[in-house]
Amino acid sequence: MNSDLLYQGSDLMLDRLPLATIAREYGTPVYVYSASSIRGQVTRLMQSLGTIGSLRYAVKANANPTLLALIFNMGLGADTVSRGEIQEALDAGCPADRIVFSGVGKTQEELTFALDHGIFINAESEEELATIARLRTGVHVGIRINPGIDAHTHRYVTTGTEESKFGIPVDAAPDAFRLAMDAGLVPDTISCHIGSQITSLEPYRKSLARLLELRDSLMGNGISVSTLDVGGGFAINYGEGADFAVEDLQALLRRDVPQGMKLWFEPGRYIVGHAGTLVTRVLYRKRYTRTFVVVDAGMNDLIRPALYQSHHAILP
Ligand SMILES: *Cc1c(COP(=O)(O)O)cnc(C)c1O
Repeated sequence: MNSDLLYQGSDLMLDRLPLATIAREYGTPVYVYSASSIRGQVTRLMQSLGTIGSLRYAVKANANPTLLALIFNMGLGADTVSRGEIQEALDAGCPADRIVFSGVGKTQEELTFALDHGIFINAESEEELATIARLRTGVHVGIRINPGIDAHTHRYVTTGTEESKFGIPVDAAPDAFRLAMDAGLVPDTISCHIGSQITSLEPYRKSLARLLELRDSLMGNGISVSTLDVGGGFAINYGEGADFAVEDLQALLRRDVPQGMKLWFEPGRYIVGHAGTLVTRVLYRKRYTRTFVVVDAGMNDLIRPALYQSHHAILP
């Protein structure tokens, strides 16, 4: 829940502003975001992970232009999954050299757009690598690995197991790096993203071990890796428990990652998940065996509970 939400008398306040006033001024349903909540989350990330690597905000978590500008102003880069998201990141002031283009289904047109703008690409298949090499040679690319790790989160947001469409299985990765080299690309980054709303350190410890193992075997074959992109997935609490302890991840990485290796992180939910409030108005009440309170916001405004049983606290 948003910790910047407080009652003052019977008024529900967000960042000391009464939400009822905003509802009167802008109508309902309306999304209201707390800038101070976002700043607080970004600051915690920068004070721990930002000291050992660079942070790229996963734009799909929320692509509101004002929020993007706020986040990029604090120095974060962007993790994007479409030409539209790349454009939104650029428009909101994110420098091209801090944007990563991820996603399993990039079209040739999108790849061309990214290459023309000097945007780093994390490739997710051998065929995508071949397509990039046909378009341009000499470019540095990342290869997304599927480490075969269960992140123990909701199955709709689990991306790092063998059943998942994302990335290249770790066993096939050395050949993919070789293929990229032979095609004239410079594959210098191993990337992964094993899921979302990950609450414990263990999945990260396991996937990091796989990435480092792969890096060693690539080195033995004359392929040098400069960067590890460990993805996002840091959980936030939805009313009980605590947010993912980014400080513990920092300690793990400091211990296990060799000196000189660059690190990237792609948090999304962790940055904006606490900040949003959907303000909606009660329209009708229906009292049968169950009582229903009908409001003016529906699944079109908030799909997450219906999509994957997400939890959202409700405050009158
Ligand atoms: C969704 C996604 C992220 C961010 O995930 P969060 O759980 O929001 O932190 C990072 N990287 C990639 C490639 C993604 O698809």
